[in-house]
Amino acid sequence: CAKALGKARYEVFNSKMHEGASLLLQLETALRHALLKQEEFRLYYQPIVSLLTGKISGFEALIRWHHPERGIISPQDFIPLAEETGMIVNIGQWVLYEACHQMQRWHKQFPSSTHLTISVNFSGKQIMQPDVFQQVEYVLQQTGLEPCSLKLEITESLLMDNFELATTMLSQLAALNVELHMDDFGTGYSSLSYLHQLPITTLKIDRSFVSSIGRRGENLEIVRAIVTLAHNLNMSVTAEGIETVEQVAQLKALQCDQGQGYFFLPPMESAAVEVLLAANLCYKNFLLV
Ligand code: C2E
Ligand code: MG
Ligand code: MG
Ligand code: MG
Repeated sequence: CAKALGKARYEVFNSKMHEGASLLLQLETALRHALLKQEEFRLYYQPIVSLLTGKISGFEALIRWHHPERGIISPQDFIPLAEETGMIVNIGQWVLYEACHQMQRWHKQFPSSTHLTISVNFSGKQIMQPDVFQQVEYVLQQTGLEPCSLKLEITESLLMDNFELATTMLSQLAALNVELHMDDFGTGYSSLSYLHQLPITTLKIDRSFVSSIGRRGENLEIVRAIVTLAHNLNMSVTAEGIETVEQVAQLKALQCDQGQGYFFLPPMESAAVEVLLAANLCYKNFLLV
């Protein structure tokens, strides 16, 4: 009886594993297809707000995959696979071109918006491409976007794989006059010593610290420490995942420079951004609290 049970268990396990593997394969095939057709990827744009002026200072480009049958697939569900298979390099090139092109169009369409910047997420595999510098330079040339309008968001994990190579690549990119921002700061496991060895201009405080600001006192202290660290190193700080007015008030009191989150606005399609830019929105009143 025990043996039969064991076998049944084994079969259930086995068929579940098989199901998982074939789902992954299906996803991979669909992703390759999407990459070839280039019609199913969309960029959404989330405003980044200056906590000093209450004005929108830029947007972060966030990819979505509009799958014909499955609907919108979030980046969390396909970026890891894209990284594993190397497809992220091509996807990333598409994202970079599309985001820079869009921002340049907005600069033309709304002449008072020329200060607006565009933040693009860059994965480790992309940075390690030997010609990443040429790729970025080419996109800037083709789209006409000024380098100082582009911010590349990187994560600590990319530094851990090969710090020396990462340092070389990042220095080349910084020499283009493009800014480098450290995303999800505080969640990685690397030592802090890299901070003054790399040309990073902004730390983005991870949402996990921001979301518990009102609830757990310790996290407020962590946020305070990150802001102080950044300012002492001549960097600016952006808080991600701001959802409440209380969080905005605390972050502003801590002199955090920029904020991003559902409290302001979620990631939006480009048409919605155009409505927003035409309205010339300002959050000054919220920031007086
Ligand atoms: P990220 O770069 O840290 O982006 C912030 C994520 O937080 C986004 O999720 C955004 O929609 C979400 N978010 C913003 N405000 C709030 C808030 O107030 N509350 C909550 N709960 N969430 C908020 P999204 O768009 O699902 O992207 C997830 C991650 O996928 C990104 O994290 C980034 O690491 C990656 N990603 C997205 N687009 C790209 C891309 O084009 N290339 C690469 N390499 N990675 C990307
Ligand atoms: Mg990001
Ligand atoms: Mg982030
Ligand atoms: Mg994050």
